[in-house]
Amino acid sequence: MTRALQPIGRVTCGLLEKSISVHKELLCFFSPYYKAALKGNFTEATTDSLQVDLTDKGLKMFVRWIYTGEVASPRCFPRYFSLYIFADLVDIVALRRMIMTRIQGYSEDLPEYSTVKLALMNLPESSPLRAWILDVYISHWEPAYDDCDPYPTDTASDPDNTLAAFMYQVARGLAVRESVNTAGCLCCYSDCKYHEHESKEEWEATCGQIEDMEMPDHLK
Ligand SMILES: [Zn+2]
Ligand SMILES: [Zn+2]
Repeated sequence: MTRALQPIGRVTCGLLEKSISVHKELLCFFSPYYKAALKGNFTEATTDSLQVDLTDKGLKMFVRWIYTGEVASPRCFPRYFSLYIFADLVDIVALRRMIMTRIQGYSEDLPEYSTVKLALMNLPESSPLRAWILDVYISHWEPAYDDCDPYPTDTASDPDNTLAAFMYQVARGLAVRESVNTAGCLCCYSDCKYHEHESKEEWEATCGQIEDMEMPDHLK
């Protein structure tokens, strides 16, 4: 059986315009957003080409994930966060979940302030990635981190002081934890907390298949 490849996006990197082809059916399967764009009555439905807001590397990671289910990349929070923001925009929960699984393995390293800001300014407050960043900072941040990654005091690129508001939440979280004398961390042993599992059945069919995985509290 032959299938037509559909180009999904052209990405401009400097002077280079790049486009990569992906099976239309796969895109529609994973993303309600693309399903509407490719099969609905949108003007884009008449074209075979969709614009995606990703860098060249991001687009490659995305296409690789579509075909392999993997998002392997060096430990690079900005790259993962950008792809997550894209997955939020086009509503691909499976990709968001895979990225969470990857970055959860890195939580001894904190995402830098500039990367945190990227997430805060581009994701809704209810986003599990934002919840994870907050948990990681409350559980693992130490003043010494600021020696390598100084807190940015320039607010021109962040007029709403999103980062300062975030650090205030971190400080509150730390204070609460100290007052109840909680040991251990909020993030590292609860992978599924950030996976957006919708039901017990869905969890059992996905993460429930993995050995030693614990069902998230909200499904119990
Ligand atoms: Zn942790
Ligand atoms: Zn899970």
